[in-house]
Amino acid sequence: MTRSGTQIRQDFIDFFISKGHTYVPSASLVPGGDQTLLFTNAGMVQFKDVFLGTDHRPYTRAVNSQKCMRVAGKHNDLDDVGRDDTHHTFFEMLGNWSFGDYYKREAISWAWELLTKKWGLDKNQLWTTCFKDEQGEIAADEEAADFWREQPGIEPSHVLYFGRKDNFWEMAETGPCGPCSEIHLDRGDEFCNKKDTPGHKCGVNGDCARFLELWNLVFIQYNRLSPTKLEPLPACHVDTGMGFERIVSVLQNVPSNYKTDLLLPLMKVIQALTGDSDEERDIRLTPYRVIADHTRSASFLIADGVVPGNTGRNYVCRMIIRRAARFGLKLGLNEPFLAKAAEKVIDIYSQAYPEMAKNKKTILENLTREEKRFAKTIYAGINELQSIIENKKDTELKQITGKESFDLYATHGLPFEITKDIASENGYSSDGDGFRYEFEQHRVDSGAGKIFGRMGGEDAEIFRSIFETLVDGKKIDKQGVTYDPYGLKPVEGEVLAIVSEGEQLDSAGEGEEVELILPKTNFYIESGGQVADWGTIEAVDGTWQVNIIGMRKPSAGMITHVGIVTRGNPKVGDSTVAKVDRERRQDIMRNHTATHLLHAVLHKTLGEHARQSGSLVAPEKLRFDFTHPDPILQDQLETIEALVNEAIFSDYPLVKVEKPLDQAMSEGAMALFGEKYGETVRTITIGEETHFSYELCGGTHVDETGDIGVFIILSEGSAAAGIRRIEAVTGREAYKLIQKRFKILKHIGKLTGSSMEGVAEKVTGISDELDEVSKENHEIKQQLATVEFSSSLNNVPLIDDIPVLSSIISNADSDTLRILTDRFRDRYPSGIVVIGSVVEGKPVIIAACTEDLVSRGIHTGNLVKEIAPLIGGSGGGRPTLAQAGGKDPEGLISALNKVTDYVRKNLK
Ligand SMILES: [Zn+2]
Ligand SMILES: [Zn+2]
Repeated sequence: MTRSGTQIRQDFIDFFISKGHTYVPSASLVPGGDQTLLFTNAGMVQFKDVFLGTDHRPYTRAVNSQKCMRVAGKHNDLDDVGRDDTHHTFFEMLGNWSFGDYYKREAISWAWELLTKKWGLDKNQLWTTCFKDEQGEIAADEEAADFWREQPGIEPSHVLYFGRKDNFWEMAETGPCGPCSEIHLDRGDEFCNKKDTPGHKCGVNGDCARFLELWNLVFIQYNRLSPTKLEPLPACHVDTGMGFERIVSVLQNVPSNYKTDLLLPLMKVIQALTGDSDEERDIRLTPYRVIADHTRSASFLIADGVVPGNTGRNYVCRMIIRRAARFGLKLGLNEPFLAKAAEKVIDIYSQAYPEMAKNKKTILENLTREEKRFAKTIYAGINELQSIIENKKDTELKQITGKESFDLYATHGLPFEITKDIASENGYSSDGDGFRYEFEQHRVDSGAGKIFGRMGGEDAEIFRSIFETLVDGKKIDKQGVTYDPYGLKPVEGEVLAIVSEGEQLDSAGEGEEVELILPKTNFYIESGGQVADWGTIEAVDGTWQVNIIGMRKPSAGMITHVGIVTRGNPKVGDSTVAKVDRERRQDIMRNHTATHLLHAVLHKTLGEHARQSGSLVAPEKLRFDFTHPDPILQDQLETIEALVNEAIFSDYPLVKVEKPLDQAMSEGAMALFGEKYGETVRTITIGEETHFSYELCGGTHVDETGDIGVFIILSEGSAAAGIRRIEAVTGREAYKLIQKRFKILKHIGKLTGSSMEGVAEKVTGISDELDEVSKENHEIKQQLATVEFSSSLNNVPLIDDIPVLSSIISNADSDTLRILTDRFRDRYPSGIVVIGSVVEGKPVIIAACTEDLVSRGIHTGNLVKEIAPLIGGSGGGRPTLAQAGGKDPEGLISALNKVTDYVRKNLK
């Protein structure tokens, strides 16, 4: 019987658990703490620090199945996705790990056992590769080759050697590295897709589809110091990776990943929507595969808190949804359909990844919303692109420029990747670097680039060398600067190093911006939304002082205090005392604890889906972003504010405990996306018995909720699609706000002559009165206008026996003027009346005539059209009633003077 994908994943995990491994759940697709990486793209990402020796785990053997994305940057398979059977933007990586525990012998024999015994693959079809350096500098991995040849039933001639490109693994230009050993499967001659290529020969690491690489076992035994220098590591590690979709296709005996039970059901959902037969589907396979792949990726991304947007990860999420929607158009799917496909993804994956079911609503809503948004502009975007292509038809340049691509995105929301697809469908190329350049320029122009200014890590090198000197000189240990931000007492120490603008100094002068390194600090470094501490560092003898306005972690183990020298000359070796700005820190702590209360209250009032998706904890306010589709109603907002204050007045104690991650998670602690958690985590419990809130958090907090004082919501609004934002103040700032508002209230009370309690009633009364007065005022104006008009009614000049009145009435609106024309017509059974006035600085003209004059050539619409230009405006209307408005009140008299001309000319 064929195993299901879910079963195969579980087989792998169970097999290695039976060999003493600890199951470690997949890390989020958003890598924690790694600024250089857009997405988790391999199983080892969450273990990187263990290999680098900067992190330690309670286990030495691990097994996992890691969610991965490869869609941007160096590993970018997007162009191949959909066009073949094996490339994906999202995929899973199965892996087993040894951290200084077992090595090649076990790794090799277990791999063989799992593939041939547990899964029953044909031993004669399996091939393995080992490392042999073509440059002869690094020793060949005979050890691994020997272990392979010892495996029961292996064909010894199937153990091959390859060079650096295929069989030597490096994490980066320097650092951990080592030989690797791969297992390949020969699927048989019928899988060769290069039979027609002259001279082609099938082979392992060849260029046809016959041999499939199944599993890569990496043996980390060296540390690379330079391009030519390796040193052996004190402990060797194993890192293996097996592409999950691929092994499923092998074990389910299907020729394509898209025919496995991971993706085929998804293709079937799409097929049901298009009504295609299986044959029709296979003709239009590319769109099917792209939609299936992208829907799966987008669903996983959204479940990990990445929603569609304009930069970074959010752009990728937007791009893949839009790309899927565009391929949907090719299949005739004009209405939002991705949510239907995503429901199937959630079905298939929820057992292994419970976050999928948990975030179902958010996933489906975000997909549909993004499709709808794209639908508004896609046709305009594609038309624009088509005309760009059309215009270049007769030119040499068959390329869409970066500027054109960027404009298409900025104006029509057409992601570059779609422009590229359409361009290539028309035989054009597109300039990706140019697009990225324009994108970057735009970001810098809009100021967003500044945030990244300090993160480039260009000066990391100097801090690494300072670190080594300090460790050698026993000034600090290998863990680096001691960081304990939870206390507020002044910390004594010594200036270990001074750096200014990337240069190391022995001393600094007044006014200089410097970074100081001390052996120990309690200044908080910005993290988890909480801003860094400010404060001072002074010489113990009082001779100098530096005002600290920022904190930074420029390289592993190094923490710097960024500030300005305000007095004297700090020198390396001086004894110091460092003081955190206490008042500011307390304000921050109040806001941080209030953030946890708010998070808990949102869960209780809005539902489990209202998850944190960003926060800012500053001294003056807190900002909290969370997933929720709709604006929050005023009474809901009042309830939320009331419940947070309720929790403050309950004066719950805060319990801050460090404990193992799995224990905290199984107790139901809330963890945040994009945060990296070690094996031991700090937990914050509010309300000991009642567990009002329970979160993983490294921030600084008050001791009892009562310390927060009071919590006031400043605003609620949209932060991004599907994300709401609440801003609030606590403690000192809340008190200031209350004071300020009371002052305003008192002032109004004084102006209106009422008590503060009576102000609302009083103001309502005044406002009603005002309405009444302005109504009366209007009536009086009308009466005055009527009186003014009545006198001119008695003295109307005649043209050919027809009374023609043109006059100006002061300060009457068009309604009043219309009433006046009615009065004219009541008085004269046959006649023409044109009245002008100036209202709020603008001239208005109303013209009317009696019915009988229409047959005699009078058309008031034409009349106002003729005279309107004189008041700098335009007009029009029916034959018997028309109106004009303009900008130049000065022209009103001459406009009205022309009325006689019109009548003389047209009256028959
Ligand atoms: Zn071949
Ligand atoms: Zn927190």
